This record gives sequence, structure tokens and C-alpha cells, in this order.
Amino acid sequence: MSFHPQGARIGVLVTEPVGLLDYLAPEDGVLDGQLVLCPLGPRRVIGAVWGKGEGGFDAAKLRPVIRTLEAEPLSDELRDFLTRAAEYTLTPLPQMLRMALRAPDLEKPPAERQVIARAGPPPERMTEAREAVLRVLDDHGGAGFAPAELAQLAGVGSSVVKGLVAAGTLVQHSAPKDAPYPRLDPDLPGKPLAPDQQAAAEALRATIATGSYGTTLLRGVTGSGKTEVYLEAVAACLKQGRQVLVLLPEIALSVEFLDRVEARFGARPAEWHSGISRSERRRVWHMAGQGEVQLVVGARSALFLPFRDLGLIVVDEEHDSSYKQEDVVYYSARDMAVLRAAGASAQVILASATPSLESWVNAASGKYARLDLRARYGEAELPDMAAIDLRAEDMPGGRWISPTLAGAVEARLARGEQSLLFLNRRGYAPVTICRACGEQIACQQCDARMVEHRFQNRLVCHQCGESRPIPTECPSCKVEGRLAPIGPGVERLAEEVESRFPDAKAAILSSDLFGSARALKETIAAISQGDSDIIIGTQIVAKGHNFPRLTLVGVIDADLGLQGADLRAAERSFQLMRQVAGRAGRLPGERPGLALLQTHQPEHPVIRAILAGDDEGFWNAEAAQRQAAGMPPFGRLAGIILSHPDPGILSNFARELASRAAPLREAGAELYGPAPAPISRIRGRHRVRMLIRAPRQAPVQRAIADWLAQLKPPTNLRLSVDIDPQSF
Ligand code: ADP
Ligand code: ZN
Repeated sequence: MSFHPQGARIGVLVTEPVGLLDYLAPEDGVLDGQLVLCPLGPRRVIGAVWGKGEGGFDAAKLRPVIRTLEAEPLSDELRDFLTRAAEYTLTPLPQMLRMALRAPDLEKPPAERQVIARAGPPPERMTEAREAVLRVLDDHGGAGFAPAELAQLAGVGSSVVKGLVAAGTLVQHSAPKDAPYPRLDPDLPGKPLAPDQQAAAEALRATIATGSYGTTLLRGVTGSGKTEVYLEAVAACLKQGRQVLVLLPEIALSVEFLDRVEARFGARPAEWHSGISRSERRRVWHMAGQGEVQLVVGARSALFLPFRDLGLIVVDEEHDSSYKQEDVVYYSARDMAVLRAAGASAQVILASATPSLESWVNAASGKYARLDLRARYGEAELPDMAAIDLRAEDMPGGRWISPTLAGAVEARLARGEQSLLFLNRRGYAPVTICRACGEQIACQQCDARMVEHRFQNRLVCHQCGESRPIPTECPSCKVEGRLAPIGPGVERLAEEVESRFPDAKAAILSSDLFGSARALKETIAAISQGDSDIIIGTQIVAKGHNFPRLTLVGVIDADLGLQGADLRAAERSFQLMRQVAGRAGRLPGERPGLALLQTHQPEHPVIRAILAGDDEGFWNAEAAQRQAAGMPPFGRLAGIILSHPDPGILSNFARELASRAAPLREAGAELYGPAPAPISRIRGRHRVRMLIRAPRQAPVQRAIADWLAQLKPPTNLRLSVDIDPQSF
């Protein structure tokens, strides 16, 4: 990290498409990585000092940077990471820098701020608006929001906050710029570990002791005690005085996790995700850079925080598809975690019951270490599993619960145990058809059907979010009263549950039915306490929630997701059904739980592998198939999505690009397409896709860059490159 004295020529990476520009170092000089405010034409932009200037530009015309910002310089480690991540994902470097500068108000020096805190009992006059404010506050530790920010997050006017201050429920005070975090104490004792947990924790502690890079895949079914084990690695890393990042796929999960960290280390860690306040965002960002944050629990974007000395990254539920960002910058947080750790001499722990095929193959080849927790903590067996062959069941139209499954639910009801019915389809029905003309109601902006959400009385496009009231007449033929739902969604399943088990208490878990992470958390907590007899849920139930009285899982449509051209379909279905089936537990001293899969194809290899509990067999077979086809993780894929409002301009440009594929061929890569993208229109933009397949070692990023550089795209064209796409 070198120092540049006043007047020296420096290269500054600005957060604008122009990227690297030369400036003169300001008064007092600057360090590499330091954040600076620079003149750019008439504007002032933020940049990071990236080294010496390039030269070439007339020194007499160089402008000095305006001033340095009050923030720790970005470390060499972070700047290297951004560079390598940009190269890997084919993202322009300024765009990557933006990912690392996601702290609000960087230009402003930290000043005292007015913040709100809980002060007294709830007000005598409680309103919905007041409740909303208190709820937001309580969700985030009871303090720290600016008044306007609090009102905005609660969706109320600022007078509501003022009223609560006047009522003495809240108090407004000025806060120091950034209060330090309470210290986590890694020397507090953990839970006594079972023997295989102990062995795994020991192995992880040994990796931490190396102080160098390595990745370990920690495998074990949900409830096997993986979290307990990796908290031991966290403790070891904290004892070294190095920082830890734990990535979780879902904010709703983090609530439980924060409590566990507090129980283990005596204080709550910092959080980083879309649900935290601006001031908290700012605080975490600065404190990470100062080395004052020991542990951050966060969403994938936390990977870009300016940690000063990162020693461990845990990626929990590493197979989860939400780790893939497919917006602006396309990246896999799992892969970026490995990239960052390698440059930071840090360890990575990938935890999952059902690892991604990528990680499975890397562990099999020895690139990653692998640790297995075999049993569930404190119990010996997985649930019993069986298929229900729907071809042999009496299934009248409009019914989705087979007699066999219904019988199993009845038995649980009689014993006071819980059942879970899993259907990975939000809404009431996936298709609404007009019985008069046959028209299926589609989104006007997208190539997608509108999905009926009866509880909200709306039709919703799951692509663009557009919604409208459910019409009574067909939008096409105008005939009244002939619209009919086709196929089941969770809401429709709930209706069937209600009519078939009228005395049972049912609860639906579907992401769209909850306004906030808190509402979801409350429902989950109520279910955990045994509040409902039958839980109806989408994939949200697959994630690590503990439902202690749940002994039956029924998968309503095990075939859903098995079909389709997507080569990852089998892998995803396997992971999802395996996770869901694993929710069925045994009660102390009772028989094992039961998972029943309703299917039309019980002989399908994926269904057979799940029933047999044969994870290794499934992964080996899947890996062999991918290898034979030269598909990931053995070959490499890149997806190119082009979009434009005008289909003609779009297809001309795409064809032109495809005709110039020589740079790709020279690198050993093949180009497929252009073809309509899986969703050929979103928000009025037409979309085509091209696919590039290359051998693992081919310099595919450079080839793609050379290929794209040949043509200037028409105005309004959007082009995104997705290295290692999730679906293909
Ligand atoms: P996983 O992360 O594999 O799903 P967890 O670590 O969350 O598993 O463990 C599942 C449950 O078992 C949790 O409630 C946890 O507190 C408990 N548990 C795990 N290991 C132990 C242990 N050694 N002693 C006591 N409770 C444990
Ligand atoms: Zn739409």
C-alpha cells in the first residue's frame, strides 16, 4: 500500500463507466485504496486511489483530487478481489467498485445524528401506524434510526414518530457517529459436542490454525448440528483476532441465527442485508474497515464489505439458489466467497445437507476438504420415505391430496402431530383459462401467464410483479363468468385442506403472503410451538426451520421440476425434496417421521434416489451425466442475454454478433443461438439468449470480451453476461 505525496500523479478508479483516471494527489498526499472525491467534468464523483497514474496524459492538464474521504483505505486484498471478481464475471471494474462502496453518505464526514430509541411503555392510544413504527424499531434492536428513516421504513408519515415521542414511548437523542459493537467472547464455552461433531469441529479448528486459504464442505442433514460445529470454527477465528463473515440465504433465517450467536458468544453480531437501516449500514461498513466488527451475518452482498482482516467465510445452505445474483452484476456468492478467501488467506466453510453438484465434485476431487455429520443430533434415523403412485389413486378433478396421503394426515391429526403439505407454487392456480374461448390470461408486458392470488383477489405476473383485480369476463372474448383456474397453487391446496379436514388448524407459508420478515418469523414461531395441525407451504418451508411436532411431510407434486429442458432440474428437485422430506422428524421415543411423495413416475431416477436416501448414488450419477455432456462443473457455460424493446433491432444485432464468433472458436468455445430466452419478454423488452460452452480451462472470459468488442450495440440494447448460469 504505497503513499503518494502531494502533487504526485495517481490513478483513481471512479464509480463511473470511465473507470481509471489520472489525477494529482491532494494536500497531505494519499495512500493506495484511499477514497477520494474527484472532479469529473462539472461533477464530483467518488473514487478509490488505484496506484500510480498511467502517464501519457499531459501532466499540466491533470486536476488534483478535491479531498480525501474519512474512511479506511480499501485494502490491497479487497482491491485485488474486486479486480479478479470483475475479470471473472466480466463486470466493468467501476461497477465492481460500486459493490464495495455500498455505504450511504461516504462523502459526508461522520457527524452526530438525531436518532430514535424506545423510552417508555406503549402509548395509551395505539393505532396501526404507531404499531408499525414500534414493530420496525423492535425488529432492529429498538434504536438507531433517524426519525424520517423510521417513518419511511414503517410506511407512515413522520408525524406518527413525533407523536410517539410526545407520548413518551420513544425518545429522540443525538448519537455519536458510530457506536462500537459489543465484543463477542470466543472463550465462552460452547455446547458439549457429540463425537462426530467433536471430530468435525477439531478438523475445522485445524484449518483455521493454518492461517491460510482452504475450503471445507461440511455436510450433514438438517438438524445434524452443522451450525453448532461451524460456530466452533468461528470461535477459533475470533480468538486469532480475525474477522468472520457468515452468509445466510434468507433474512428470516438470520433472526434465529443472531440469537444463537448471542447465546454462544455473549453478544449480537453485526448484520448486513436489505432490512437494516441506513445508519446501521454505514456503521457496519466503516467498522468492518476499521477491524472493529468481529462477525458479520449477512446476505451475499456482504462479501464486498471492506473487512480489514477476514479469516473465515461460512456459506450456510451453500446450494441455495438465492446465492446467485442475476441482476446488474451476475455472480455466485459461493464462488466469490472462495475467490475472496483465497486472496485473504482465509478459510471457507460450505455447509449444506444437499450440496451443489459443483461443491460435491470439488470435494470428490480433493480440491475441497469434506466433513460429514452422519446422524441427526441426538437421534439416529431419517424419516421413512415412500412414493404414492398417483396413477393408482382415486383423484377426482380439483383434488390434489390422494386418499393415501389424506389417511396419513388423519392419523397425525388423531395423535395431535403436525403434517406438512409441500407444493412449490405460490398463489391459487398457475393458469386461468376462459372456458368460452380457450384463452389463457397472460401478462401484457411479459411472456408469462398471470397467476391467480385469491387471497389478494388479484392476478399477478411472477416475472414483473404486475397485478390486476381478477376480472369476471374474459379479456379476449368478453364472455362473462367462464374464467376457470387450472392446476393447484398453495392457496387452492389450503382450500382443499379446509374442506377435507374442517376441524384441523391450517397455516400457509408462502413468501408472498407475508408483508415483512417479522410477520413470517411470527408465523414460523407459532407453528414451531405447535399452533397448527397442517402446514401448507412453498419452498420457504425447506429452509432450516425447526418444527418439533412435525412427523409427516407430503410432497403434493413430486414431478414438478423434474421435467423441463433445464439441466439442473434433477439437481434442484433432488435438493428441494430432500430438504423438505427432512422436515419430518421423530418425536422422542416414537417411530421415525414419514415423508410421502405423490408422483406419476415413481420409477424416475431422482424419485428413486430420494426414496432410497442414496445421496452419493444420485450425485455420482448426475456428475457422470454432466461430464459426458461436457456440462458444468466439467465444462464451462456462459449465458448472454440481450434485450431490446424492438424485436427487429434485437434479432438483427444478435445475428450479427453470432456471425462473428471467431474469437470464441479460437478459444475452443462453441456458441449456440441466438434463441428466444426462456422468458422471451419481460416488462416490454424482448429477450434473446445465446449460450457459450467451453472446456473447463478455456480462457472463456477473454474470448467473450474480444467477441463482444467487435460490435457497437444499438442504443437501448441491454446485454448481460452470466458466467456459470444457474439455468441453461
Ligand atoms: P444444522 O445446522 O445441521 O441444521 P444445528 O446445529 O442447527 O443443525 O442443530 C440442530 C439442533 O440441535 C439445534 O437446536 C441445536 O441447538 C441442537 N444441537 C446441535 N448440537 C448440539 C449439541 N452438541 N448439544 C446440544 N444441542 C445441540
Ligand atoms: Zn409481467
